[in-house]
Amino acid sequence: MTSLTLFDTPALKGATTEASSPAGGVYTASAVADALAAFRSAPRKSLAYGLGVDSTALLLAILDDPVSFGIAEDFSDFSVVTALTGFEFPDTIAAVQDHVLPRLRAKGVRYAQVARAGHLEEAGVQVLSDTTTPGRVFSRGQWTLMDEMEANGTVPQYSGGHRCSIKFKGFPIDSFQRSQAGGQTVGKLFGYNADEFRRAAEANKHQARRDKKAGARTFALDYPLIRLGWDREAVQGYVQERTGVAMAKSYCPVCPFSGVCSPQPDHLKRLRKYPDLAARVLRLEYVSMALNDNSSLYKDDTLFRRVTADQNTDALGQFGARLDEEDWAVYRVQRAYTAGRRPECHTAHGDRCAKPGCRDSGIKGTVYRSVKTVRTGSRAEASAFLRNAAVALNRRVEHSTAHGLGVDRVRTHTRPDSKTYGTVEDFYVTAPAGVQDKARDSFATVWSGMTGGQ
Ligand code: SF4
Ligand SMILES: [Zn+2]
Repeated sequence: MTSLTLFDTPALKGATTEASSPAGGVYTASAVADALAAFRSAPRKSLAYGLGVDSTALLLAILDDPVSFGIAEDFSDFSVVTALTGFEFPDTIAAVQDHVLPRLRAKGVRYAQVARAGHLEEAGVQVLSDTTTPGRVFSRGQWTLMDEMEANGTVPQYSGGHRCSIKFKGFPIDSFQRSQAGGQTVGKLFGYNADEFRRAAEANKHQARRDKKAGARTFALDYPLIRLGWDREAVQGYVQERTGVAMAKSYCPVCPFSGVCSPQPDHLKRLRKYPDLAARVLRLEYVSMALNDNSSLYKDDTLFRRVTADQNTDALGQFGARLDEEDWAVYRVQRAYTAGRRPECHTAHGDRCAKPGCRDSGIKGTVYRSVKTVRTGSRAEASAFLRNAAVALNRRVEHSTAHGLGVDRVRTHTRPDSKTYGTVEDFYVTAPAGVQDKARDSFATVWSGMTGGQ
């Protein structure tokens, strides 16, 4: 195991030169030294504790030898903060309760558990616990990632990076830390391991943008495991040696980044252990794909197919039972796919331009969605209603097989193809109930402009 002489050896394994850094030069020796100096001089230091094996390794190492990490020996300048997304594997929570909380209590380290308080940032942050004697890890706050996904009928977005993480982890943790810092820079530790350069690089870029906007250094970030060169294997070995348990990575069972947050075989194994959680995610994926064929959990694959291939009959059985027992809805889904602006329009007309001539039907613009529940009832009742609607509208019932269980829809507007923009779609579909009626801002205006009010 690498010895903990962090400040004597600022640039470590695989991170010594700009050219060799997979993160694109973020970990040059001088950049690491600067970051360390900023971190050390911050009056308050805080670990963003994700409950998984990586940040547990870092926390255990800090508890043993805080001074090596630039933290006061009595932990008076240090705190640990966890953001609860509200959807954790129970074995993660149990391992932290059994093996980490007693150590925090013994050392009197301040531990806060926070969560996003609502859909909008204005709702703020809920502090579920903030104490030096933590007794339990909360499983959820008042608003969770799954609450949001189920209300929207969508899975976490694969494209555009870890937006769900920024929203449900980054926002509550940053807000809490800032609120405690009285306007001073917060030294912030992340438990990314040495295989996770890219995550650190992304976090640094994001932080640089925020500091620029704020006109001050709000957080000084440090990634000791990367500097120490502790990769996944080293981290797992260290935690097992210290606690006697093989702790897993912490991530939401609904995570679309299967290769990043957990290698797929491990994830499927965990879903076999927790078939009820798998069934909840399978249900969400089904609803999401009912509203949009392309909205599977993974970029080019469905969780349903993977769980089926894995012969996880418990999860599939519970998923099937949920579908049979729950209320269903007939939803009306409308989408307006506006055409995007030509590149020359951006150059000539700046951030905004409403000239129709500047749009190109081959370029994707903004997509405006409206979802409304038209009817609820049993699965059979919803299906019968859809069939009656098809007859009344003189349309056929389309059966999509994008999801292995199939989805039935009745379309009243069909796009000519998926690559032509300035087009709309409008359909009725059956799926489990619970998606909230919602339309994107300006939906009505855009829709009526594109359809002549139909
Ligand atoms: S673990 Fe995955 S789903 Fe959960 S917040 Fe992070 S990126 Fe999103
Ligand atoms: Zn223009």
